[in-house]
This record gives sequence, C-alpha cells and structure tokens, in this order.
Amino acid sequence: MFQSKAMNPETKADQLFPRLSESTIRRLAAYGEECSVVGDETLFERGTRGVDLFVVLNGELEIRGKRNGHLFSVLARLSDSQFTGELDLLSTRESLLDCISVRPTRLLRIRRDEFRRLMRAEPDIAEIVTKACVRRRNELLQDATGGVLLIGRRTCGPTMLLQRFLLRNSYPHRLLDLAAEIDAVELFESLGLSEEQLPVAVLPDGRVLHRPNIINFADNLGLNEPADPASVYDVAVVGAGPSGLAAAVYAASEGLTTIAIEGNAPGGQAGASSKIENYLGFPTGISGQELAERAQVQAQKFGARLAVSRNVAGVCKKDNIFQLLLEDGSSFSARSVVIATGARYRKLDLPNYEFYETQGIHYAATAMEAAICTGEEVIVVGGGNSAGQAALFLSQTAHHVHLLIRRSNLASTMSDYLIQRITGHSKITLHSNSTIVSLSGDSILREVTWEKSSTGSCTTRQVRNVFVMIGASPNTEWLRGAVELDTKGFVKTDPSRGSTYSTTLPGLFAVGDVRAGSTKRVAAAAGEGAAAIAAVHAYLGQPKEFETSSVLPENSKVGGTASRTFV
Ligand SMILES: Cc1cc2nc3c(=O)[nH]c(=O)nc-3n(C[C@H](O)[C@H](O)[C@H](O)COP(=O)(O)OP(=O)(O)OC[C@H]3O[C@@H](n4cnc5c(N)ncnc54)[C@H](O)[C@@H]3O)c2cc1C
Repeated sequence: MFQSKAMNPETKADQLFPRLSESTIRRLAAYGEECSVVGDETLFERGTRGVDLFVVLNGELEIRGKRNGHLFSVLARLSDSQFTGELDLLSTRESLLDCISVRPTRLLRIRRDEFRRLMRAEPDIAEIVTKACVRRRNELLQDATGGVLLIGRRTCGPTMLLQRFLLRNSYPHRLLDLAAEIDAVELFESLGLSEEQLPVAVLPDGRVLHRPNIINFADNLGLNEPADPASVYDVAVVGAGPSGLAAAVYAASEGLTTIAIEGNAPGGQAGASSKIENYLGFPTGISGQELAERAQVQAQKFGARLAVSRNVAGVCKKDNIFQLLLEDGSSFSARSVVIATGARYRKLDLPNYEFYETQGIHYAATAMEAAICTGEEVIVVGGGNSAGQAALFLSQTAHHVHLLIRRSNLASTMSDYLIQRITGHSKITLHSNSTIVSLSGDSILREVTWEKSSTGSCTTRQVRNVFVMIGASPNTEWLRGAVELDTKGFVKTDPSRGSTYSTTLPGLFAVGDVRAGSTKRVAAAAGEGAAAIAAVHAYLGQPKEFETSSVLPENSKVGGTASRTFV
C-alpha cells in the first residue's frame, strides 16, 4: 500500500521510512531504553492511545492495518535504523495501526514523556519524525481501506457533516454514495439498512453506527481527548480556528502545558474556505483545511493536546484555577484560558430555511461542496470576501454562479482583487439589490426565488445549492456572565488590564474574531493567538497582581470561593 505509481518507489519509501544515521540513534538513546522482543510479539495495537516510539536497532517489525476487526494487509516492514509511528504519535489519539515483530528484534523504546521532550529539544530529529508521520498519514488517507466506510448520500446534510468532520480531522475514510454507486445500494440492502438509519458509519473494527452525532462519532473513533479532572494545564485554549491553533502552537512551543478544546473539528471559519490567498507566505494561496492541518500538526509536535468535538458550555474560576465545563458534564482545568471561539455564520430569515440547511444550504465552499454542484447553477449570497472567494471557486465546476448582494455594488465590502476577477467573469452574474424571498422543493432544495428591491421584480431558478456567506455572530453564549461583552456579543478586552487581550476576568484572554474590535482575518487571528501567549506568561508569573485588579462578573464570589459562572 505504501507505494506510489507517480513517484519513484525507492524515493517514496525513503521519505516514508527514512533510516536514521548512527549518530542520530546515539542521540536518541539518551531519551529511551533498549529492549528486545521475540518474533510475533505485538508492540502496539489499533485503538491503543499514546503509543511509544520504537527504533529498530536490529531485527524487523511489521506495520499492519485492520478492517472489520480482521487483519487486512501488511502496510510496511521496518528494519534496522527505521522507526515506528504516524500522526497519532504526535497526539493522544487512538492508533490506527498494529505493530508486530517479525523475528527477534532489538529496539530502542522512547516513552511518551521523553518523546515530547525529544521533540522540543532536538529540532532536526523532530523534523525527520514529523515529516515521516505526516507522509504516512497522507498515505493512509489516500488508500482509506482501513478507515471509516461511510454509507449515505453525498448531497445529504448529515452525510456531509460526518464527511466534513473526517476530512478536517484527517481521518481515513471512504464514502459509498447511495445515489451513485451500485456497490453502495447492494451493501445497504445486504446490511438490512433503512433510510432513517442513514448515514451509516462502518468503523474499522466492524462496529456500525447509525446516524451518529459528531460527539458520538468522535468518541467511537477515539478522536477525543479524555477529560482528566486531575490535570491542571497551564493554558486551555477554547476553539481551534486560526487564532486558537496559533495560541496552542506558541504556548506549547514555549513550554506551557497546553490543551486546545474544539467544539467541532480544527480550522474554524478558515476551514470553510477553499483558498486563502492573502495569508502571508503562501503566494499561490492555501486552503483553510490545509492551513489548519499544518497548524494542528505543529501544535501537537510541541506537545499541545487537542480535544475535538468538545463544546465548552461554561467557565468558572476557583482558587486561581479555571474550570471549563463541557456539554457532556466533564471538565478541563487550567491556570489560564485563551478564548478563541470565533464566530459562526449568520442565517437568512426565511420560513423553511432550517429544513433546507441540511439539504442544500451551505456555509462552506470547499472541494467537497464543489463536487456536488458540478454542472449545476448555484447561488452565493453575500458581498464580502468569503462570498467572493466562494463564487470564484464554485465557478470552476458549476454551470453558473449567481452572486446575490443586498447593496448596489461590491466596492465597500469586498477586496478589490476579488471584484476585478468577478466583474466580467463569464460564469458569474452579480445580482445587486437582491434578496432571496423563497426556497422550495421536496426532501431537498429545488427552487429559489429572489427579489430585486430597486425594481420589485422576482426571478425564480432551479437551484439546488445555495451558499450563504453573510457575515458571522460571535460564539460567546458560553461566556455570558463570566466576562464583559459588547452589545453585539463580542468579548471586550482592554490594554489597561495588562494586555490588549485581557478580558474583565484576570487570566482569561480573548483573541481573534471573537474579540471586540479585532480585524476579522486569518493573519490577524493567528497573530493575536501568538501575541496573547506573552500575556499568558506574564499572568502565570504574577497571578496575585492580576487578581487584585479583578473585575468579576455579578454572580461571582471572591475570597477563595468559586466564582461560578457556568452558563
Ligand atoms: C468562507 C470564509 C472564507 C474566508 N476567507 C478568508 C481569507 O481568504 N482571508 C482571510 O484573512 N480571512 C478569511 N476569512 C475570515 C477568517 O476565516 C476568520 O477571520 C478567522 O477564521 C478567524 O479565526 P478565529 O480562530 O478567531 O475564529 P474561527 O475561525 O471562527 O474559529 C473558532 C473555532 O472555535 C470553535 N468553537 C466555537 N465555540 C466553541 C465552544 N463553545 N467550545 C469549543 N469550541 C468552540 C469553532 O468550532 C471554531 O472552530 C474567511 C471566512 C470565511 C467564513
């Protein structure tokens, strides 16, 4: 499986399974211990969390994958100077693979704690390990045989939700589209499934989940980070969009014990963008998903933990320790908190809008959405940059894009480079002064009508996909009562409290789109996430000074009692 037709196999194998030099192994020896295994001994199994790193000193190991609980293939053989591990080595997620000794083998075993120390202290070795881990995961993603089998309809909301979650978490998977693949229909019938049970996820160990929600799905895949009430992190970052991921990278790289807690999957709003062209250092643009993937690996490389599909529902502070209460009742504790919960898309005010939200209305325009609109007419609503980008991206595959804006032109809301590309584009029509007035269809959206306010005329088109990109509202419900918010719900910060990112509750910082007055851009969000860590350091170094300048919410108590502000 770890072979490629496109590349010289030798070169590719070297990249996937590099051999460490003798001097590198000597340096690694300081972090591990030598051990021996006999033939056919299991070093780790699929589903195990926190597996160690093994370097083969003499002997041979096999890396195997499973499907439906059975061994399905030998993915690789590792011999002298090669090492184990793929992306799970950098996180505490469950391993996707098994590792078994082929014959008596001498190994260098580096345990997790030492592995983390190694990754920080030996950057050249960390680079070799990280690159190999990322490449190995990419191979698994391309093959997807040992991942999740998703059975559903590609265009159906709940199926898209699960697929998006798997994509954003770089989890190997394959979609069997009932609308397009005969194999899918046969499997659907042979499993005795009903329409109400869709989408169905067949997990690699054979378990079958019917219409799982994201939390249940993540738990079953071992993607979550178990809450450990005994651990107190130096910093907890809430939200893993660009600002939260940047905060996690900087905090972990500077030696703070760090957890990032994300309600869905990493990437945030940026993950909804097919191509970010104005982020420094990427002259040809980068997709939001790729940017998030890279940042996630970077944060984990430095030892940050990442809990996905974990919505924070409230926060309280007791004896200088914050408790972040999750929706499932569990909690994480930390000495400081960075709020990076960004914003979520606004919705159109139409009677049957919610029904079509899962059946034709989208808030992201990535390759996944583009695939379901190929050759069709689509509508993009909004006059900002995200709408402009979506229109241009979708025009590559859609038959035609209708861009609807309420204003008379784009000048005051969209960047000039996007306006230039949209104006005169043969596959994009700009409809100014226009608002959608009705959506209709059956189980899916089929027809959309919009009105031009300047003339009162209405246009109806057979359109099955509408992309709504009309700005966003802050994700701050979980903070109500804990910190001061502005009238629109954004978190107020004030430099006079110690840092630009200081909120009204000492030790609680806000960065990125969620912060009142911030520039709503990827670069600004990432910059704020990074910069706030300096303030976190200062706070952790001088907690008393900050405590005395406390501006606590109404329902909090001082003097060693909990300032309980769960919401
Ligand atoms: C389609 C689109 C295209 C864009 N294109 C560009 C572009 O080209 N260039 C540019 O500079 N900007 C662009 N932007 C804007 C940019 O994406 C945002 O400014 C940036 O993502 C803000 O980052 P953030 O981390 O502050 O917040 P977000 O990206 O909003 O991330 C917040 C994260 O917090 C999580 N979260 C929310 N509530 C909770 C909770 N209670 N518990 C746990 N987690 C929670 C969310 O799930 C989310 O992942 C675009 C935005 C969109 C929507």
